[in-house]
Amino acid sequence: MQPHFQETDSTQMVRQTVKDFAERQVRPHVMEWDESQEFPRHVFTALGELGLMGVLVPENYGGSGLGYQEYVAAIDELAQVCGSIGLSMAAHNSLCTGHILQFGSEEQKMRWLPKLASGEHLGAWGLTEANTGSDALRMQCVAKKDGEDWIINGAKNWITHGISGDIAVVLARTGDLLDSHGITAFVVERGTPGFSGGKKENKLGMRASETAEMIFQDCRIPDSQRLGNIGEGFIQAMKVLDGGRISIAALSLGIAKGAYKAATQYSKEREQFGKSISQFQAIAFKLADMATRIEAAELLTLQAADMKNRGLKMTKESAMAKYYASEASVFCANEAVQIFGGYGYTKDFPVEKYYRDCKLCTIGEGTSEIQKLVISRSVLQD
Ligand SMILES: Cc1cc2nc3c(=O)[nH]c(=O)nc-3n(C[C@H](O)[C@H](O)[C@H](O)COP(=O)(O)OP(=O)(O)OC[C@H]3O[C@@H](n4cnc5c(N)ncnc54)[C@H](O)[C@@H]3O)c2cc1C
Repeated sequence: MQPHFQETDSTQMVRQTVKDFAERQVRPHVMEWDESQEFPRHVFTALGELGLMGVLVPENYGGSGLGYQEYVAAIDELAQVCGSIGLSMAAHNSLCTGHILQFGSEEQKMRWLPKLASGEHLGAWGLTEANTGSDALRMQCVAKKDGEDWIINGAKNWITHGISGDIAVVLARTGDLLDSHGITAFVVERGTPGFSGGKKENKLGMRASETAEMIFQDCRIPDSQRLGNIGEGFIQAMKVLDGGRISIAALSLGIAKGAYKAATQYSKEREQFGKSISQFQAIAFKLADMATRIEAAELLTLQAADMKNRGLKMTKESAMAKYYASEASVFCANEAVQIFGGYGYTKDFPVEKYYRDCKLCTIGEGTSEIQKLVISRSVLQD
């Protein structure tokens, strides 16, 4: 299933490279990593060698210097095989690396981007806390100035690569509670005294993507590790999420396509009442609904990607892409399990994993309800 418009040579090349990689190096291990909840760090070193850990990073910082179309194609192909690998790749590129790329000084970019882009370092990005997810402005993690340094205290929860991340971008309160100019972004390197990984979550899906707590106890970092101006962190984070949501839309799309392809093939092979189940209109219409939603999701995702490439504001479009694609993914995975019947409920077939993995897409980087808040605010302003 491909878009019906012409992809650029560069996007086609990325798509094929990632497809081959995923078939060879990911597919054989998908269920083993899922069952044991193993985070396969080595896969990201290999993705780095392919230039996929710095897709959007310009070549002068060691990245691939590609655009959002290529980025979407890469995540889509990975997620068709394993949502967890797609999620980790997306979080690394869009959040940690993306934040430094968009808001770091020249010196900071030279310092951190080359190792992130090569996959030698893995990135984490901490906004969420135990009591503040959607309501991030109420965060309790604080950074206090002490001479030329900052001292960070608090914890971040639900962080992708919270334990394994080498470089973490952390949003901490430097001003008043609920003040959108009271939050600042910092980079903290693994090994800094006072910074440690905490509890690893035992999750429903996306089990091979590490999700864990990050703990800061009198963690001292120099002012040179502050990203942008004091008080700009929340606004920076919202802009980072605008781009990040395109990657979650791509992740949703990949999972939906994986589920759809498996269900289509199965429906042609499985016979009941003397014919393949695809010949029952009840099943064929499910496939029609799935295919339509996938194509609509892809169009919204590519629209947001195109706007982002052209430097346009796309807060509404990325929220629409993320909202629609994630809900479409849940719809498709649910229908795929139904098409597989009892076999869909077992771990011998791939659809139960798509069903578990896709649910994250309606939650991470802003829930569907929060996307509707963003979209409705925007359309009411138009
Ligand atoms: C696998 C995974 C990976 C993640 N990775 C990261 C990461 O790398 N970095 C990071 O910072 N965070 C990460 N997160 C956190 C994620 O972004 C949050 O879980 C998400 O933003 C929702 O926050 P919450 O879980 O606290 O839910 P809550 O905010 O408590 O929401 C609970 C429910 O209330 C609804 N709700 C809340 N406020 C409103 C409102 N105003 N109007 C209507 N409904 C509302 C929500 O939509 C939801 O249905 C990750 C989460 C998961 C599960």
